[in-house]
Amino acid sequence: MAAPRVAVVGAGLIGLSTALRIAEVNPSCCSITLLSEQFSPNTTSDVAAGMLIPHTYPGTPIHVQKQWFKETFTYLFAISNSDEASEAGIHLVSGWQIFKNPSEAEVPFWSDIVLGFRPMSAAELQKFPQHSHGQAFTTLKCDCPPYLLWLEKRLKANGVQIHTRKVTDLWELHREYDIVVNCVGIGARQLVGDQQLFPIRGQVLKVHAPWVKNFIRDGDGLTYIYPGIDSVTLGGTREKESWCLSPDPGTTKDIFDRCCSLEPSLQRAQDIRVKVGLRPSRSCVRLQREVLSQGGAKLLVVHNYGHGSGGFSVHRGTAEEAAHLVGECIAVLQGSSSKAKL
Ligand code: FAD
Repeated sequence: MAAPRVAVVGAGLIGLSTALRIAEVNPSCCSITLLSEQFSPNTTSDVAAGMLIPHTYPGTPIHVQKQWFKETFTYLFAISNSDEASEAGIHLVSGWQIFKNPSEAEVPFWSDIVLGFRPMSAAELQKFPQHSHGQAFTTLKCDCPPYLLWLEKRLKANGVQIHTRKVTDLWELHREYDIVVNCVGIGARQLVGDQQLFPIRGQVLKVHAPWVKNFIRDGDGLTYIYPGIDSVTLGGTREKESWCLSPDPGTTKDIFDRCCSLEPSLQRAQDIRVKVGLRPSRSCVRLQREVLSQGGAKLLVVHNYGHGSGGFSVHRGTAEEAAHLVGECIAVLQGSSSKAKL
């Protein structure tokens, strides 16, 4: 049979990284096209802080989440150690996760994957008089959009075709493609009618404060300071079921005040830009094969969406799994075509 035609829909972090992994795993046994309504800088992924600090998906076994995080960390660590690091926007960053309540300061499942994880010393905790406990570690950060642009460049180098297109129904692709990989993030609520998927609105500030070198994350996950290469991300909010993409000025002030209370030098930050994104949230990432059929015709689909608050932390691991599912679809197509020949 002719090489299967694969369409990956969505050009956020998940679509780009999944298309790249499919191209790496199946270099010559399929043709790959990326279709998306929007590209960087107009995706949720462009708004994110891009820190590798995992979020927990209640519907996914911890050992699976740990594997996804480990694969992602290993992949990005190698990039951070290469001459591609600055172009890809990947760098190591050290800092602190701090807690007011000692019962919250449990050792997380990912503590042996980040580097140098340890309890904070009493001397370090003096920096945070409102907090009694903390954890110090070094992790990775992806600067967006540089990382998304780097992925796009890698796709082009691997022969992936890229087109702007809004898909209104996956079935509309069945004549042009054999396999469709659905990576549309929050767009899946409309595209495939997934009612388990909901937005968690996040508002963040990107500020110029190049003297801030360490990350600070309040253990409640709401307030954080994440230094990147060109700007520092100040967060944040988590507003369940809010679809509003307009920045709220009251929230901007609240975020700024909360961050200044952890890092007073931010009072002198300049060039404050406000961004809003909708985290595509679900109890678990939907990583699954599905067969659509109408009137005897079939379309093989692989879903990879619903990464919520933790897409950057696990994207390479879920791309690996999605690429494996695409490999299974290719085997099914090749099996059915050899049966047809018999
Ligand atoms: P998106 O980036 O939204 O991409 C979806 C793509 O699909 C877009 O290109 C869109 O145009 C396209 N699309 C949608 N519908 C259609 C359609 N019908 N037809 C064609 N194309 C379509 N994660 C971390 O791990 N660490 C962090 O520090 C972090 N910080 C965050 C901070 C904020 C404020 C926010 C909002 C998120 C943060 N996240 C973080 C989460 C992370 O950003 C998401 O998990 C991730 O970006 C999801 O990527 P995605 O590719 O699924 O979605």
